[in-house]
Amino acid sequence: MDNEIASASPPHVLIFPLPLQGPVNCMLKLAEIFCLNGLQVTFLNTQYIQECLLSCTNIESYFQRYPSFRFETVPDGLPEDSPRTADEILNLLDSMEAVSVPLFQEMVTSGPYGPNSEKPITCILADGIFCFAVDIAKQIGVPLLYFDTVSTCGLWTYLCLPKLIESGEFPFKGDDLDELIVNAPGMEGFLRRRDLPSFYRTKNINDPIIQLVLNEDRHLPLAQGLIFNTFENLEAPILSQMRKICPKIYPIGPLHTHLKTRLATGGTTSNSIWKEDRSCIPWLDMQPINSVLFVSIGSLAVINKDQLMEIWYGLVNSGTRFLWVRRPGSIVGLEKEFEIPIDLSRATKERGYIVSWAPQEEVLAHPGIGGFLTHSGWNSTLESIVEGKPMICWPYFVDQQVNSRYVGEVWKIGLDMKDTCDRVIVEGMIRELMESKKDEFLQRADHIANVANASVNKGGCSYKNLDRLIEDIKLM
Ligand code: UDP
Repeated sequence: MDNEIASASPPHVLIFPLPLQGPVNCMLKLAEIFCLNGLQVTFLNTQYIQECLLSCTNIESYFQRYPSFRFETVPDGLPEDSPRTADEILNLLDSMEAVSVPLFQEMVTSGPYGPNSEKPITCILADGIFCFAVDIAKQIGVPLLYFDTVSTCGLWTYLCLPKLIESGEFPFKGDDLDELIVNAPGMEGFLRRRDLPSFYRTKNINDPIIQLVLNEDRHLPLAQGLIFNTFENLEAPILSQMRKICPKIYPIGPLHTHLKTRLATGGTTSNSIWKEDRSCIPWLDMQPINSVLFVSIGSLAVINKDQLMEIWYGLVNSGTRFLWVRRPGSIVGLEKEFEIPIDLSRATKERGYIVSWAPQEEVLAHPGIGGFLTHSGWNSTLESIVEGKPMICWPYFVDQQVNSRYVGEVWKIGLDMKDTCDRVIVEGMIRELMESKKDEFLQRADHIANVANASVNKGGCSYKNLDRLIEDIKLM
């Protein structure tokens, strides 16, 4: 190897996100911050994600702005038309294990980024679910950083699983989902069984998702550092638990806002893998302040026809204005000839607006938005927190059940609607959030928003943690 070239080059980080909208978006933002701070970044996408980005975003802008940034791709091994939704996540991971991982390994060992190449990587930054990264990083002798883009409280419930098993709390005995959890330090007194990730409701300890979580638990502490998209004041008790399993932790969020503070110009690129329908912005411009409920279940969750009708009637009966994202493929079991009841279509025309994908960050920042009915995905939760918008939470899976409990019970900036989907309850919660307790919720949400924004400004905790992360990478 040409040692002089290698040692003169800036540190080179290979970032490998889980190929889903949330992690890709988050890690692209971190990649930009790295480039702004003199690091070289290779961003490894699956071909599927890369094609989605190519057709929906201005990917060229990355190369124009950051000469030290490049994309690489590997196939995910799934047929092109295979759904990449929440229910298919295990398929995606199995397929990647068989197809993508060997290619990644070759790339960083004997391939273009191996130790003997012209551009050797000096650090791997991978999604926390990628357990294979530990052995590969060891093989080539570079440090590994794990970044799990779920909430830290959600991740902590994964890390508590061995203790829950050992103590007999998992699998649950009996069907009472309201029983409090004892063996999740930092969450005593408010975390119920129903607030754990929904896949903990299985009675089968050999369930593949449970085994996946246990595998992640064994691998996470083997990384040189753990990155979290959160800020100290939001999840302090959980971050101190995390420090016990890994001495180097970097809470650097909310990342989407953090990137804005680090960019001289302020504007960020959209990393959407669906085409954004921007027509909702002029519609929002015409609505009174804080009057519109934004409704979205993110990029992976799906609902059935009954749930669609309950939410729709709840919305319409509440009398609120609403902007609703109906992602293609997100409603299952809807016949083609489905006829929308006349009362729903009339009310929707009067005070609703439906899009297939929204510029969500911009929507949540809009003064017309007064609340967010969300599936409690972590990116959506943080985006809502930063803009001071209270939430009605209807969690679907992974960390979302934990997040919604924190929103309702710990941060008190919204209402948790988990495990029910009934038009009367939907209507009641909307009235509470948007009418009867509107001021209370807005006040508390505004306070947390200020803390979130302060954390990513110069001198704030996340700002300092990110500087420390960049310095540590430079020293690796
Ligand atoms: N999103 C968007 N437009 C939409 C709906 C969602 O840009 O119409 C973005 C949203 O801003 C967030 C991401 O998609 O950054 C969803 O991530 P999250 O972690 O909330 O949920 P997931 O999709 O992973 O379940």
